[in-house]
Amino acid sequence: MRHWPKAERLAGISRVLRATIAALIGLAFAAAPVSAQPQVPSQTNPAEFWMSGAAVQGGLVIGRAPTGTRSVFLDDAALELSPDGFFLIGFDRDAPTEARLVAMLADGSKMERHIAVAPGNWRIEHVAANITGGAKSSAEFQARRSAELARIAAARAVRSDSAGWRQTFIRPVSGRISGLFGAQRIYNGTPGSYHNGMDIAAPQGQDFVAPADGVITLAANDVFTLEGHLLMIDHGMGLNSAFLHASELLVKEGDLVRQGQVIGRVGATGRASGPHVHWGMKWNSARIDPKLLLPSN
Ligand SMILES: [Zn+2]
Repeated sequence: MRHWPKAERLAGISRVLRATIAALIGLAFAAAPVSAQPQVPSQTNPAEFWMSGAAVQGGLVIGRAPTGTRSVFLDDAALELSPDGFFLIGFDRDAPTEARLVAMLADGSKMERHIAVAPGNWRIEHVAANITGGAKSSAEFQARRSAELARIAAARAVRSDSAGWRQTFIRPVSGRISGLFGAQRIYNGTPGSYHNGMDIAAPQGQDFVAPADGVITLAANDVFTLEGHLLMIDHGMGLNSAFLHASELLVKEGDLVRQGQVIGRVGATGRASGPHVHWGMKWNSARIDPKLLLPSN
């Protein structure tokens, strides 16, 4: 062990502290970029894959394939390509932490890109109680639920040519985030289903708006058991939004809506403990976190 004079020892400690703090700051920046929000650029390098957004579980990435690309595959599944070569990738909340992107070019060559998908940092709560089906196990619920699920599935199957997916998304309503995407309770070791959207608490009757352009694919004027008055929007390229618990819907199925247009009013219909907007998003079958589409998320 080295014995330093007091002043030198203090200077040494402060050097170590400074280095540690600098490393921590560096890490913080590396782990949490200022914004993971995907944004479409005016120009990309035509010889390379270009990507923007969060390669993280629950994240959405907008990409552009190299010029001359005929088709793009993500882990062997073909991706939809826009006429100008853009594609979307949504990473499910429980997506594998690696993905492989392959572009097949017109000249027969292929270009590969490996994507490291960062694990999500979900709020997990352990509860010393047994899991129960609650209202979900009642015969009345079961009878109504299958019809509701069929309507939701039919709405998700609608593929509009909306270009909303290209936009910079905005919040549907201002207010405190009262529920996080991905949060999950574990009941005596048995995981409950995770929270599949972002909750924003807002006053009853407050207007909420479309976060991006789209087509209304479901506007439930009847009250769904869990979702209440449910509104769904297709933003194109397999990307859609759902808004739950509204007190009133101001649009109808088939309507084209613009970003910022008032589409409904906040409520607590269905299974909700107070007035809020539950905003859920999916890209094809992947559930994604709407918060990651917003500026400075
Ligand atoms: Zn919710």
